Amino acid sequence: MKDDLINLRERALKALSEADSIDKLNDLRIKILGKKGELTQILKGMGKLSDKERPEIGKLANEIKTELEQKIAEKELELKKALKEERMRREFIDVTIPTKVLLGAKHPLTLVMDEIRDIFIGLGYKVVEGPEIELEYYNFEALNTPADHPARDMQDTFYISDEILLRTQTSPVQIRTMEKEQPPLKIIAPGRVFRSDTVDATHSPMFHQVEGLAVGEGFTMGDLKGTLVTFVHEMFGQDRKSRFRPHFFPFTEPSAEMDISCIACHGKGCRVCSYTGWLEILGCGMVHPNVLRNVGHDPEKINGFAFGMGVERIAMLKYGINDLRLFYENDLRFLKQF
Ligand SMILES: [Zn+2]
Repeated sequence: MKDDLINLRERALKALSEADSIDKLNDLRIKILGKKGELTQILKGMGKLSDKERPEIGKLANEIKTELEQKIAEKELELKKALKEERMRREFIDVTIPTKVLLGAKHPLTLVMDEIRDIFIGLGYKVVEGPEIELEYYNFEALNTPADHPARDMQDTFYISDEILLRTQTSPVQIRTMEKEQPPLKIIAPGRVFRSDTVDATHSPMFHQVEGLAVGEGFTMGDLKGTLVTFVHEMFGQDRKSRFRPHFFPFTEPSAEMDISCIACHGKGCRVCSYTGWLEILGCGMVHPNVLRNVGHDPEKINGFAFGMGVERIAMLKYGINDLRLFYENDLRFLKQF
């Protein structure tokens, strides 16, 4: 029996040294020390031993049991430590390895908007913003466009309630600014506007405008022209020609549209400009006396000019883009070109 115990100890220690996983170790523990394990089986034979042999064998069995339990526990710690180190190695991230980082870039509309902003800031204008959800009063009435005014048919409006709508233009910011600030003032108001248009190459239910307003004493149409010609030269180059055509807007009088010489043919006439040599880029005019009265000014003393341009339109002309939808599809192949 003593030999059986010594033999078991040796086999157990050998198996222990070979165990290379927690699972194998657990199997070994059960096989040797478990209720039905080999040690228990050997000890069942204790009853047959003489009174003299029994204490000696019992002592040996206990020693072997303690030794094996301890060795198994040590081995378990060792295996767990190795497992942890292996995981650390696997999960280690070397932050010094060079990686290819894809940098984002500004959207072409943002680039154009920034450029417009910079040009007018250079001319002494201040940038202001107004709400996209607007009162009908600011979007129409205060801008000399009463309910029965034919100009209301010019725009299809998204109404939220009878008096609340999504602004169809950035012009209401003119009124909001003049209500708060006294002239002289020069502002531009960039922002989103909304019209219930069907999406196609030249229409979108949401697009961007930049509104401009200069109010003070003694402004003339010449000031308006000088300002906008300067803008066109900055935006489209010093040799870009421009012209003003009479037009109608309810909130300016007189009103005009401004054209620039065609980007594609430089005025010779081509398909882009419908063989006119000119491309329309913005609307403008002298602030209508009624608009000035609506904010409490005497049009005999205070006057000014206003203009409004579509940012998408400017960007399309500047970059030669022929489809408005490209701005909103977020196709990287398109966006990467800017
Ligand atoms: Zn042309």
